[in-house]
Order: sequence, then structure tokens, then C-alpha cells
Amino acid sequence: MASKRYLLTPGPTPVPPEVLAAQAEPVIHHRGPDFRAVLVRVLERLKLVYRTDHDVLLFTASGTGGFESAVVNLLSPGETVLSVSAGNFGERWTKMAAAYGCDVQQLRYEWGATPQADDLARRLEETRARVVFLVHSETSTGVVADVQALGAVVKEAGALSVVDAVSSLGAVPLETDAWGLDVVVTGSQKALMTPPGLAFVSVSPAAWEKSRTASLPRFYYDWERTREAQGQPNTAFTPAVSTVRALDAALGLLLEEGLEHAQARHVALGRACRAGAKAMSLELYSPDEDRSAVVTAILTPEGIDATELRLALRDRFGITVAGGHGDIADRLFRVGHIGYVDVFDVTTALSAVELVLVEMGADIERGVGVAAALEAYEAAVRV
Ligand code: PLP
Repeated sequence: MASKRYLLTPGPTPVPPEVLAAQAEPVIHHRGPDFRAVLVRVLERLKLVYRTDHDVLLFTASGTGGFESAVVNLLSPGETVLSVSAGNFGERWTKMAAAYGCDVQQLRYEWGATPQADDLARRLEETRARVVFLVHSETSTGVVADVQALGAVVKEAGALSVVDAVSSLGAVPLETDAWGLDVVVTGSQKALMTPPGLAFVSVSPAAWEKSRTASLPRFYYDWERTREAQGQPNTAFTPAVSTVRALDAALGLLLEEGLEHAQARHVALGRACRAGAKAMSLELYSPDEDRSAVVTAILTPEGIDATELRLALRDRFGITVAGGHGDIADRLFRVGHIGYVDVFDVTTALSAVELVLVEMGADIERGVGVAAALEAYEAAVRV
């Protein structure tokens, strides 16, 4: 077993040493002035990353908890909601709203497809839903949807958008206010370079308005309770104080780099990873486009098992990449390049993939993947 570990999954993602150091500071009390100062700074920094002037609520939860808060604060039993789904996370939100007794209508695509604004306009017309679930970056497939266009269609229909930005916010452009997105949900463990455990939810004035009449039961995830506490500033319950401190350090790093720079870096990493895979004659499952900047889904050559590849990467080189799903699970693997990642993380993954695939019988010229990745990265950062 290799001792050095490389975490190259699309979440959780690697955490910078400064952030780990902040997480390891002695635990502080969440009702005292030390924590209050951190909380105030974190909430301000989150607004900058979200590109919003509206409330951003913080929950100690995973991203799924953040999304659940949107369901219970916006919907009533039996109410129609339209869920746009083209992968695992779209399906999750469909199931979640159904579990709460909502009338879930779907705009459902094959996994790996990119949702289209025209289709959404048609389904909205048919269903008359007042709330629409969108997934910005569908981590299971690598597809990043045009949430600006989809959000505009939702707005045009007078409905509210709830956007899953768990694997996109901070890595891929997302303009909460300028694009009129009502609710945007993300988590700490991806582009925000922090360990798992925190979820964030931005809420537009229109979403607040809707939450006043929504009647699904809620307590821990009650937005109003959380907003009231944050206004003091305080938290409704005991937050993961150490993770909030870590987040403070991570947001500081992200803002110091600059959002635009971080987004450009992700575009360059995506190009590098795709160029490397293609140079090794591997088929891309995720789209070969700049928007697809956070995870690259790749198919193994026919006859080579992706699970065996992943196990060998982990056991021999300490490299963790993610697996796939459905009827191509035996051929799909996903390399994450979100957050605290540079081009050498990508080339590490590609070179180990090459070594293992060659051993498993693939015909790959030595070094072509790494060379192509570096070339693509260089070209991207030069412009
Ligand atoms: N949505 C997307 C797009 C994700 O990638 C994930 C996590 O993998 C989630 C939602 C769920 O987040 P969590 O696992 O933090 O609940």
C-alpha cells in the first residue's frame, strides 16, 4: 500500500495546509466573541463568492442537507415542483421532494445529457410549477449546465429556481444575483477547499416571500430561525466551529487568488485532463468543453475494468479517483480537479492511469497523456 495519498475525487477535495491548520486550532465556544468574529467574516466572504447581496445561510450539514432546507422552506405538501435531472444529483432532488409528499414533475434526460432551456420552458408551461430544481454541475457525469439560461427561463415563467451548485460554486462562474437565481446551495468540501460538514444556501427576496406560505414541517432547517440567529450574529444551534474556522481560512485563500483567476485555473485544468485522456486514446464521457471544468469522466478501453483500475491506482500509488454509475459503471472513472488542485495533480493522475492501463493490456504510448496535458495547460494559462 502506498503511503502518500492523492485525493483526486470530485469531493471531498484536497484541503490546503493553512486550512487544515485552522481546523486544528483549539475548539472555541460558539457563543463567544472569538467565534462571532469568524462567523461575521465567513458570512461576508460567502456573499462575495456567491456574488450576492442577499442572505447566505450556514448550516452544519452536508450539501444534501442544504438542499433539503430549500425543499422544506419553499414547498407545501402536494405542491407541484419541477425537477430537471440528467444524472445522480438531479434524481436525488426528485426523490427528496417526493419523500416530502410533493407532486414532483420531471424534465428528465439520459444521464450525461445537457439540459436545454427550450425543453425547460415547455415543461414549465405544461406543469405550471412555481419551484424548479436545477443542477449546475452534475458531478456524476461531468456536465455543467447553462444555469444562466435555465434560470432566465424559470424567472420568465414567474417561478423560483433552486440551484444545486455543490460542485460548481467557486470553480465555475455563477452569478447568483445577476442571473436572478433564487436559491443556490453549496457545500464546504469541493471548490471551497474545506473539509466536509457545512452547507450554504443563498435566499432571494422572492424565495423568502414564498417561504412564508410554504407549509412543509421544518425545525433544524428553518430558514427564518437561521436568519434571525445570523443577524445577531449567532447560530441557531452548535455549528461545526472548527470547520467554520477552516472555511474562513479557505475563503480567504480563494478571494486572495481571485474568483476569476480560480475559475480560469479550473478551465485550464479541465482542458489539461481532457487533452491527456484523449492523447491516450481514451474516450471522454463528460463533454469536451470549457464549462466542464471540475471533473473529467473517462471510459476505460473496451475490456478493461474501471473498478480494477481504480483499485490499482489506490493500492499501488495512493491515488483516489471516483467511480461511475449505471450500465457503464465497469468502464467509467472520474478524475476530480476541483479546488486546491494544480496541473501536477492532473498529470500525476494521468501518468498513473497510463501505467496501470498499459499493465492491464492497453496500447498507450508512454508519456503522451502527460505531454498533452501540460501542453494544453500551458496554452490555456498563456492567453
Ligand atoms: N450535488 C452535487 C452536484 C454533488 O456533487 C454532491 C456531492 O457529491 C451533492 C449534491 C451532495 O452533497 P453532499 O454529499 O455534501 O450531501
